[in-house]
Amino acid sequence: RSAVVWFRRDLRVGDQPTFLAAADAADRALALFVLDPALTGPSGGARLTFLYRALRSLDAALGGRLMVVRGDPADVVPRVAAAVDAASVHVAADFGPYGRRRDEAVEKALVDAGRALVRTGSPYAVAPGRVRKADGEPFRVFTPFRRAWLEHGWRAPADTSAGTVDWLDPDGGSSAVPVPDDERVPAELPEASEAAALRQWEAFLSDAVDRYGDDRNRPDVEGTSRMSVYLKYGLVHPRTLLADVARKRGESSEVYRSELAWRDFYADVLFHRPDSARQNYDKAFDALPLASGGDAVAAFDRWREGRTGFPIVDAGMRQLREQAWMHNRARMITASFLVKDLHLPWWWGARHFMALLVDGDLASNQHGWQWTAGTGTDAAPYFRVFNPITQGQRFDPDGDYVRRFVPELRGVAGKAVHTPWELPDGPPEGYPEPIVDHEAERQEALQRYERVKAAR
Ligand code: FAD
Repeated sequence: RSAVVWFRRDLRVGDQPTFLAAADAADRALALFVLDPALTGPSGGARLTFLYRALRSLDAALGGRLMVVRGDPADVVPRVAAAVDAASVHVAADFGPYGRRRDEAVEKALVDAGRALVRTGSPYAVAPGRVRKADGEPFRVFTPFRRAWLEHGWRAPADTSAGTVDWLDPDGGSSAVPVPDDERVPAELPEASEAAALRQWEAFLSDAVDRYGDDRNRPDVEGTSRMSVYLKYGLVHPRTLLADVARKRGESSEVYRSELAWRDFYADVLFHRPDSARQNYDKAFDALPLASGGDAVAAFDRWREGRTGFPIVDAGMRQLREQAWMHNRARMITASFLVKDLHLPWWWGARHFMALLVDGDLASNQHGWQWTAGTGTDAAPYFRVFNPITQGQRFDPDGDYVRRFVPELRGVAGKAVHTPWELPDGPPEGYPEPIVDHEAERQEALQRYERVKAAR
């Protein structure tokens, strides 16, 4: 008997419950990855390059037995399953809006041919839809979700390796695994392999995790785990991280666990409200007046280029270009600037982030943006407007983060770098004056949001 293991967001061989399910169901299995144009098309260059590298590394871990096929999964998967006469196709369940529709189409085609699609686990500690309020309704607020999520708990990591399954040799073999076009991505990307993910994790666990509670807000220090891209493509599963963190004591590991709870929370929110990927979660905000026209586009371009004249905003936007990643504090500051200082639609910013981020994830990104814009679940109160000057002074106290990413300001010492317009000769050559008056735009934002609130 044979089976197919269809990899999607789980490009690893360790902690793989799907391997156990496939090994139970069949003597041999084919390892398959489908390059689906519906997903690779909109993927930014950084994610595509990272994906290709991760596939090459998975193929090597499987002894060159990964079959990669380009096409619509609803055609490819049933065809491949038929070719090896597989009774079952094994996957980790996908809960995203597109993934669910795709899997239903694949399942229908498989079932019509007398085969099964078997879902085991998901990319989350707790699958979306599982954690609910006592009345069965989904949570709309993070803190009670987190409590119920902790009570629900999760499985221990599965003990698997490449040898758990007896892999079939695919026709064509490794030659079909795409070669990443490294030239296309100007950003420095992290190494794309399961081993690199575990190495990075071990380094964080043995050192920075103890300071995480304090350091995670500081973009000028390496205080966060950098696990987001590895979680995005499943080079590591959150179960593994949670099991390791549980062995550590202290407040910092508690805080880390909460961050992983946010990831599950946003996936849960998107599962219940797939429309919130593109639209305001809270429909009352559809009435919020937004900037439009040529000035709006010009302001958006300045924001994208990292030339707003607010150093912490510009440092964040340039880190995004250089590293295809941005520190969480900078994501909040730059997003707040776009929606509250420039009055632009959050989805413009979300689209730009998704185009460049190597860890770009629909649930975390769109809801991170809606949180900042005040339009989402559990949103930051609408009157919370990040002040780009004091945020810089507080979280980048010596100005090192700004100097690292904004070369025009490298000659300015200490925290004076956050207010270059106050320097005796004004901003250094080549660095712009602020494009807005923050205090005036804050007042404008408050008025706009208050009008929506009053109309409720
Ligand atoms: P750590 O601080 O080490 O956190 C550990 C893990 O917890 C992260 O890898 C991530 O999986 C999870 N996590 C932490 N914070 C959040 C959060 N606020 N929401 C959801 N999960 C979280 N994260 C993404 O993975 N992809 C995105 O596309 C994304 N877009 C964002 C957009 C905006 C506007 C904002 C405010 C946040 C966004 N985040 C996104 C969340 C967060 O910024 C990143 O997960 C984090 O910066 C990744 O770095 P790290 O792995 O070092 O984080």
